[in-house]
Amino acid sequence: MCGARALAAPRDFALQQIAPGVYAHQGAIAETDAINQGDIANLGIVIGARGVAVIDAGGSVAVGRRFLAAIRAVTDKPILYVINTHEHPDHVFGDAAFLNTGAVFVGHENLPRALAARGPFYLKRFRPILGDAAINEVRLVAPTLLVADTMSLDLGDRKLTLKAWPPAHTDCDLTVYDPQTRTLFAGDLVFKGHLPVIDGSIKGWLKILDGLAAIPALRVVPGHGPVGEPWPAALDDERRYFDTLTRDIKAFLKRGEDMRRAADEAAATERPKWRLFDAYNPRNAVDAYAEYEWDP
Ligand SMILES: [Zn+2]
Repeated sequence: MCGARALAAPRDFALQQIAPGVYAHQGAIAETDAINQGDIANLGIVIGARGVAVIDAGGSVAVGRRFLAAIRAVTDKPILYVINTHEHPDHVFGDAAFLNTGAVFVGHENLPRALAARGPFYLKRFRPILGDAAINEVRLVAPTLLVADTMSLDLGDRKLTLKAWPPAHTDCDLTVYDPQTRTLFAGDLVFKGHLPVIDGSIKGWLKILDGLAAIPALRVVPGHGPVGEPWPAALDDERRYFDTLTRDIKAFLKRGEDMRRAADEAAATERPKWRLFDAYNPRNAVDAYAEYEWDP
């Protein structure tokens, strides 16, 4: 490949400034496929006097490389940290693109375990979608700087606040907050437009919504959907979906309806309000059914 590739950001990879020194890339609201190469999650950077913090790396090494090229078009400061907001492939498969930058990889204290437990499955599952070449260059990078509760990362003239959350979207959700610009990188604890995906606990997720809303951010970069939306209003749709799903599931359980009915019909009023509803709602409904069945 051409050696000049890293000198300019590819035109098809947009990295927009949403606040001074804070940039975000909006991934497609789609499932990973051969065309988008896993460019479906939102990514971001915060630039301080000492260097750069990267928040998530994209859903393939190709996407990670395009992201790195876009970062290099904005700043030549060293990349100090690569922070993964959770374990899912669309956020971590691009990590290998940053292995030679010298960055310290950062994650929730549960992230190494999650990657070890589910990584092989993720690689297998996405091999037919992304292809052998793309999967063969993926490295599941276990973070070495682990966040158990909260942690401050010093970028020089600004400090980021990282927070590890109890099980919600997954069991290794981490948020990144820049107090200087009051920008929150929420990872997949916030979905906007793209139906939320429950891979942790709907009850846990509902429980932390107030704590999330209390973060004094002005704007949020959700894991999926438009970036820079006003905070905490950006949480409203997700809260309404979870409330609706919970209410419907509890009603099904009370009437003794089976899980299949829940998968087909729960939260049906939400269908027109979200992209990828049919891809994820049945699974969310089944997970929620199982969770409320044993502990209403
Ligand atoms: Zn996710």
